[in-house]
Formats: sequence, C-alpha cells, structure tokens
Amino acid sequence: MRHLPSIRHRLLPICILLALSSLIIFAQNKPQPMDEDFAKSVKEWTTRPEFISPLVDHLPKVAGVPSPKDVLGYHIGQPKKLTRTTESYRYYRALAEKSPRVKVLNIGQTDEGRECLVVIVANEDTVKNIEQYRGYLAQLADPRRITEAQAQEIIAKAKPIYHLMGGLHSGETGPPEMLMELAYRLAVEDSPVINTIRDNVIVTITPAAEPDGRDRYVDWYYRHKLDETGEQDSMGGPPYWGKYIFHDNNRDINYSQVTMRNLLEWYLQWHPPIMHDLHESVPFLYTFSGQSPQQPTLDPILYGELPWFANFEMSQMIKYGMPGVWTHAFVDMWSPGYLAFMSSNHNGMIRMYETFGNGGANTMKRKVDTGEGTGGGRQSPSSREWYRPSPPYKEVEWSMRNNTNFMQTGVLSALQLTSEFPKVVLENFYQKSRNSIESGKKDAPFGFVIPPQADMTRVQLVVNLLRLQGIEVGRATAEVKLKEGTFPAGSFIVKRDQPYGRLAKILIEKQNFPDPNLRTYDDTGWTMGLMTQTEIKEIADPGVLDVPVEPVGKLEIKGEVKGGGTTAYAIINRGSNNLVTLRYRLKDLKVQANEQVFKSGDIEIPAGSLIVAADGKAKTAVEQLGLTAVALQSMPTVLMHEVDLPRLAVYSTWGNTQEVGWVRHALDKFEVKYDLIYKERVKQGNLRDAYDVIIVPNQGRGGKGLVFDREPQRKPLAYTKSDQFKSHGVYGESEDITGGMGLQGALEFQKFVEAGGLVVTLGQASFFPPEFGLTRSIEASRPSTQFYAPGPIVEAEILQPQHPIFYGYAQKTIPVRYANGPLLNVPERDRDQQVLMRFPGADKSVLSGLMRGVAETRNRPAIVDVPAGRGRVILFATNPCYRWQNHGEFAMLFNTILHHNDIKTIEKKPAQTAEVK
Ligand SMILES: [Zn+2]
Repeated sequence: MRHLPSIRHRLLPICILLALSSLIIFAQNKPQPMDEDFAKSVKEWTTRPEFISPLVDHLPKVAGVPSPKDVLGYHIGQPKKLTRTTESYRYYRALAEKSPRVKVLNIGQTDEGRECLVVIVANEDTVKNIEQYRGYLAQLADPRRITEAQAQEIIAKAKPIYHLMGGLHSGETGPPEMLMELAYRLAVEDSPVINTIRDNVIVTITPAAEPDGRDRYVDWYYRHKLDETGEQDSMGGPPYWGKYIFHDNNRDINYSQVTMRNLLEWYLQWHPPIMHDLHESVPFLYTFSGQSPQQPTLDPILYGELPWFANFEMSQMIKYGMPGVWTHAFVDMWSPGYLAFMSSNHNGMIRMYETFGNGGANTMKRKVDTGEGTGGGRQSPSSREWYRPSPPYKEVEWSMRNNTNFMQTGVLSALQLTSEFPKVVLENFYQKSRNSIESGKKDAPFGFVIPPQADMTRVQLVVNLLRLQGIEVGRATAEVKLKEGTFPAGSFIVKRDQPYGRLAKILIEKQNFPDPNLRTYDDTGWTMGLMTQTEIKEIADPGVLDVPVEPVGKLEIKGEVKGGGTTAYAIINRGSNNLVTLRYRLKDLKVQANEQVFKSGDIEIPAGSLIVAADGKAKTAVEQLGLTAVALQSMPTVLMHEVDLPRLAVYSTWGNTQEVGWVRHALDKFEVKYDLIYKERVKQGNLRDAYDVIIVPNQGRGGKGLVFDREPQRKPLAYTKSDQFKSHGVYGESEDITGGMGLQGALEFQKFVEAGGLVVTLGQASFFPPEFGLTRSIEASRPSTQFYAPGPIVEAEILQPQHPIFYGYAQKTIPVRYANGPLLNVPERDRDQQVLMRFPGADKSVLSGLMRGVAETRNRPAIVDVPAGRGRVILFATNPCYRWQNHGEFAMLFNTILHHNDIKTIEKKPAQTAEVK
C-alpha cells in the first residue's frame, strides 16, 4: 500500500507524465536515497497507520544539503521537541547556504528585536531570477499599466507565489515545525509531484508570524508543559505571546502591530496570489472554504476558488486513507480583518487550515467529541456531514507527528493543485485585480471624499491607514463639485477605479450584515469613518473619478499657532487624541483647561482646551502633533482647572492580558506614562499612596473572573526571567500567575477608592465594581441568550456634555463600538447625576454590523460616574480602547486620565429628587 514508487506513479496526471517523462524515468531508474532513520522514527511517532500519507512518510537524503535533523538534532515531529526561532532560522539559513533553490529574506524586526523572515523555495532558475518573477506579479497586480495582450504574455512567463504562514498563534505549535521539513522536502525531493511544484510555483514561507510569542511559548512549554498527559492536566499557556496581544494578532484590521505590518509591507512588494495561514484547533484537519456570511464586495471568482482548493485537498487526503479532513461550517468570510485576508483584500486568495494540535509536543489521548460542538455550538466535530464525509474519530491518541503529517499532506496537495494550474491561478489573480478597477467605474459608490475638518489629526490617521494597505489617496488640487456637495481644494479623494478600490469600499462603507440568524467569527462592523469619528463622504457621482488630484504619500499634518498674542497658547480641543500626547510632552509645564467656552477674536475656544504659557516647547509640540493653538494676549478669565498628570496604573490579570495589551498599546503610542500592575502589587496594599488612577481594561468576563482569574494548578506557574527562560518575566513577573487577586485584592481596590482614588473599568471589567461592592447601588446584568452583538457600531447619547470626559466631543450622539459590557442599572434617584452616556437602543441606533435584540440595550447606561468614599468609580459599559480601531472613543479614556481630579458630580435637580421613594 505504501510502496513509494507505485503510489507516486498512480497519482500522476497524464499530462505531467508526458511533459516530465524524462525526469520521471530518471527518478524511477535511480531512486533518490532515503533517510531510513526518518522513515522509522516517523512511523513510530505516528499513532495510527492511517494518519500518514505517501507524500510525507519518507524524506530524501541529499549529500551536502542539511535536513532539519542535521541542524536541529532531531526530526520534525519528535515528541517533546519544539524549536525556538533562533534555531529554526539557523536551519533555514543553513538550507539556503547549501541549496540554490532556497533564499532567506529579512523583512523586519519584532517589538522585542527578533527577526521576521520570509523563506523562498523554487527551482534554481526561479530563485536566481526571483526579482523578475516578482516584477511579473507586480504587473498583474495593477492591470491599469498593461494591455490585455501584455497581461497574457506576462501570465505565460510568470509563476504564482504560494505563501505559507505558521506560528501566528503561538499556542498552535505544529506549523513552525512542519514548515522546516516542507522547505527541505521542496528543495531536495526528486519526485513528480515535488518537481512540478518546484518548477511551476514559488513557495514562500513565514517560519513564525509572531516570533516573540513563538519563543515565549516554547520556553513555557519546556518550563511547565513537558509532563502533560492530556487535556485534564493541561497547564495552559503563558501570560503573553507577543508584546501586546494574543489571538488578536489575527484581528488587527489596521495593522497596528509591527510584526503584522512587516508582513503587509512584504506582501505589497511581492503580491502572492495565494496566502495560506496555518492554525491549530479542530480535529483533524479543517480547510477553509469561505462559508457564509461572505463579504459581498470581494470578487465572486474568489468564492469559486476557495472550495476548489478545499475540495481537492479533502479528496486527495481521503484517497490516501486519512480520516477527519473536512471543510465548510467553521470560519466564515465576513470580517476582512484576519491577517491572511491581506491576500483576498488585495485580489489574491486567503487560505486557512486548522489542524488538530496538543498545544505542545506531547503525545496525548484526546477526546474529540466533548459534546460541545464546534463553530458556535453546532454539530459535534465527529459527526458525518455532507462536508465531512470521513469524520474524525470520537477519541484519539494524537501526536505532534500526526499534526505534521496531516498539515504537510494538505499543503503539498494544495501546492500540487497550484502547480497543475499555475496559469489559472495567475489569470484569476489578474482578472480579480482588473475587475476591482472595473467595478469602481461601474458600481456606486465611485469614490469617497474626506473633506478638511475641525480635527485634522484624524484625517491624517484615516488617510495613513488606507495608504498602509496600498489604497491610493489623492488630494484635490481645486474645489470639487459633485452631486453630494462642494468640497474645498485639499480634500482627500479615494477613487474606486484602482486595484484596491474594493478594499477601500469594504473598509469605509456601512456593514449590512445579511442575515441576523447567521453567526460570525469576529466583528460584524468596522466602518472606518464611524470608528474614528471622521467625516468620510460616500460618493455616488461618477464625476469623482475625474477629479484632478495629486497623489498622497504618508500624510503629515503640521499644526499651527494662530494669532499674535504673547502670553499664552490655547490649544484647541476638537477631539484629537494627540492632546494627551501634548500634555505628556509638556509634563514639566503648568497646563490648565478652560471649563467653559470662550472666544479669542473670531475663534471659539471650546471647553477642555489646554491653556499653557507661550513657550517654544509648547509651539513645537503643537506643530508636531498636528494641533491648532491660538496665541492669547492675556490669560482667559473663564473658570479653569489645572491639568495635572495622575500617577497612573493599569491593572492586568495574568489570565487575560490581551485586552489590557490593546490599552497598553494605545497608551504607549500616545506616550501616556503608567505602571502595569498585577495581583502581586494589588495585594501589597497602599495603592492610594502610589496611584491616583487605576484603569482596569476589559478582561475577566465578569467580576468573578477578574478577581479569581486563572485556576491554581498542581504546581505554581512561574513567569519569571531566568537564564534558561529569557523570554519570561517580560512586562511583569510572577512566581505563580494563578489564583487572581482574590478577595484581598478586591478589598484593596475598595480602600483605594475610599481614600480618594479613581478606578476606571472598561467593558466586561465593569461587572467588577457592582459585583464586589465598590459601587453598591449599581446593578450589572447580562442580556438574554437571544441577544447577539458581534461588534456592531451603535449610537450612544451624551447626557452630560459639560462633563470633562466629553471635552472635544461636539455632537450629542456619537457612534461607539458595542462592547458586550454589562447592562447597567443606576437607581432612579441617581440617574441624572451618575449616567453620563446611554444607549438609545432603537433599531435605527445600529449604525453598522449586527445587533440582534437591540431593545435590550434601550436607555441602558453606557458610562456611569459614581462617587464612592473620597474617590470615585467610572464604569464604561463600552470599551473606549478597542483594538487599534475605535479611535473616536479613545479621547473619553484620555480625558478621564487628564482630568482625573477635576471631575465633579453635578448638583441634583430638585424636581427629580421629589421622585425618590
Ligand atoms: Zn489560530
């Protein structure tokens, strides 16, 4: 059954057989020497005979070219072996040094200074002329510059790049191992399938998409997980992967994280028509085919391509006798924010696997059918379905080598298909690129206008976020007259008749989720104008395509100081997030805020503007940060307060650091200084002596989770730096990350507030103050089970516009991302004083994306400000710092920081007091 030559022969398509007959005769006449030790080891590590295929049960031995074992000392898939990036990079470089078919590119650095690599594997000639092949793909990616006939000529010469990524999610340990063996096999194996791949396809590999997290996880594995025997005694993972975020590195729609951006920049230079992201979760191998809801703006060709590949892989692997390979019914095609979507967003093809993995390299008994179902509680993962004709087993003994075998066989099948139809893949890539341009000429909206507006820093943000993704933005050279209105010269124009015009539409338009009964894997809404609270006009007038513009590179907005006063500057607050940066840059100066609006000449200075003595340093900061200041002849006479900077802490559990990470990332980007504190510091007490404000970001899924956090294990889980585990003890240190702050910690929070501190809770963390007595009068509840709100954007109504939290917000109703925080209830008698913002909760309040059961949010508080003891607690049911996304809400958090000790509760109105029972 597994006699190699005969199997290979049987699999051979006739055309290739003819085309490569001389090669095959050579291969069959003089079989390549095989690594007997590999075959024997792999057979031993594979837990059942059907868990391997004829594509991967052998490995050639080639004199002078190192196999993974030659460099690492072990074959891929050896139990209890994981490879750190330094070692895997050493392997790829050793391979590239000895094989002219392999090349290693450095594409940048991580937050922690590790390298990001891309490895290229193809035949010698292709690698030698790789720049030429890169050029062909760049030409196909922008069909405006070539004729149809030229396109056909290029397609005849070009080769598709098939990009593979492993290690985006650090706990999914198999792909970075498998990819090393794959690179070697593709470089050296002499067999019809591999030869055709090597000749017709350029394979590129991201060895570890999150190198910092890979190393931290491998350290964690060797430190804590080596003796795990099954799910029942799993010790879980480390508190961090990358510097800031976990799984959200696959939800970073604006490419805020440096490693993700490195990859995007590489993508836009190399244009791989296919990008395949290798994950781990469901058994045994799930291959993504883009189920509904589907992003309707993407090219319909894509939705034909996805099942084409998935079905080929599935039928090949079933043919090899491998069970449990399936497609459909897991991940949908709605959100464009997954990392590998950079491919489909740019007219390529996203591909994705989930292979079964053990979160380490131990062989374990795994219960596949836990009765919980997959993909939002649907079928059991071992049921037979039309898309799962050969289901996984209910229970299985699973090894790292099984994982390698399944994933590598799938990938080789996908590469085989690509190598058989390279021209079809290229034609499709070209056609999708051309269609994107054509659709911009035929289908409204034909473009978008971003007019100059009060706060230009958010225009800068939006333009640069679009530019980052390769979307062309122009600046109108004269006044623009369109059906939608007249826009001044200098307005920014995004025309849809460009290769990435469809992506511009996807990012900017309102998301109309097609069916409230469908579930989705991530957010349903992300409309950029709403999230950043920037005016972006959708244009249905085709005239926008002919507006003369000059191209915009990276946009820099220079701020200015207006007027000739010599006493003070009033730095106007129009909601820019950069105001907080300015305050921190001027930390040694006295800065005040006006509590009421005033005028300087014709210019209105809104409340919450920053008043500082006229000074060169202040002027420089205003200019650098794109802000506007007015030079005053005398200090304003309206009521002002000093904007003194708090001693700020951000509280993090050890068990849920991701959302804390997004807040840390935003604070770092805006140069806000803070201490990151954990249970260790909280339990020490005396918080008030050290801090004025503690922010508790969204975490813990409720008060109980926040307080008790990770369950204690059979031994302490240390996250401390040591010579052996250098990646640990970074961002914080703990001898045992389990157990949470406990009731003792909750009590310290209470003492902090009693003593005059300000606690600010975001999202789910806002269950904590009501549930643990910091805000006794407030109730926090959860919506019904019918309620479903996967990240929609909804209206919120500001009830106390004079409150410092809303400095810079000119509108009474603003768009916010619904955060699935608590449904708060404030007693009637306190509502007028304590509720700062609420959700109107009407059907029309859902501005983008899906909220099922909107009435449950009707008039529920969105922000509550509760005096407690000598301090106060501010509860956000929203999350004013959601990923790198809702920039329009960030200022509410920054205002809370800046004005922490100038927040007052408004006077009770006599009429309302009468209603109190
Ligand atoms: Zn994953």
